[in-house]
Amino acid sequence: MLSQVLSQIEQRDRFVLTSHARPDGDAVGSSLGFSQILRSMGKQAEVVLRDGVPRIYHSLPYADKVVKAERVNGNYQAAIILECDSIQRTRLQGLEDRFLINIDHHASARPFAHVNWIDPKAVATAEMIYRLAREAGVQISAEIATCLYTAVLTDTGSFMFAGTNEHTFELARELVLAGADPARCARNIYFGHSTAKMRLLGAALSKLQREGPLGWISVSQEQMERCQAREEDCEGLVNYALSIHDVEVAAFFRELPDGRFRVSLRSKGGYDVAAIAQRFGGGGHRCASGCSLDGPLSAAAAAIRTELGIENC
Ligand code: 5GP
Repeated sequence: MLSQVLSQIEQRDRFVLTSHARPDGDAVGSSLGFSQILRSMGKQAEVVLRDGVPRIYHSLPYADKVVKAERVNGNYQAAIILECDSIQRTRLQGLEDRFLINIDHHASARPFAHVNWIDPKAVATAEMIYRLAREAGVQISAEIATCLYTAVLTDTGSFMFAGTNEHTFELARELVLAGADPARCARNIYFGHSTAKMRLLGAALSKLQREGPLGWISVSQEQMERCQAREEDCEGLVNYALSIHDVEVAAFFRELPDGRFRVSLRSKGGYDVAAIAQRFGGGGHRCASGCSLDGPLSAAAAAIRTELGIENC
């Protein structure tokens, strides 16, 4: 609960904040926003992310201070894990023996820490961080507002996903009043793609597969190399398959160096893709989730089809 999180924070001075590997906008924005909020409360706070900050979020305030590392070293009194359902998913060493605070809004969130604040009704973890700042009496600076607004913008799919409601726009309004610039935030994210990402998108879409309500695309290691694409260039590609008028559920398969596949699942609401990802050890939300599957691609796609109850047409 929020009150427990605040009381644990009050008792300590030095914090490390982190989130899941391959961080998305909510992971980065919430970590950066929360670290500034802690500093406003007179605490020391450092953000450590296994994969660092993806390029489209580089212009966020204090993004350049994020430590990219495989291990958390340091005399921290607590580790705050945001938007992440386990220590394992941070892919960081050195968290096991620390006092852990877990703040998450996923439907598949788990109470793995000493203190757990989980609210699946929040559209983004950033919404919870904003609530915490208000409760703690912290003044929301333009820098904090920019980080939290970016997190809300991306995790609601630009205010398009189910769950977006009047409170989301109230939150956005308050963040804009505090100094977030919507046009600038949107520009960095939606007009900040790499050339490699666009080339990869072209390669993926040229092999688009349709099976009833399912639309799916994939990229191989060889295509990634040919396009000189990085992992982060795959973020959001699944949405292009979902954007087709009669696609109700979409999947994106990325081949990993070991031959397995990372899968991103998206739904327009009719299919619960969190439940499907959880069956394969992953997780997420009803309309957006992810998991890993064994190859080859045909077997991975068949496994998803079977769980969806979709015949191979
Ligand atoms: P994406 O497809 O963009 O990687 O992830 C979509 C959503 O599912 C995000 O909210 C992300 O945090 C969650 N997600 C993706 N992969 C996993 C996973 O392996 N485990 C869990 N628990 N959540 C995941």
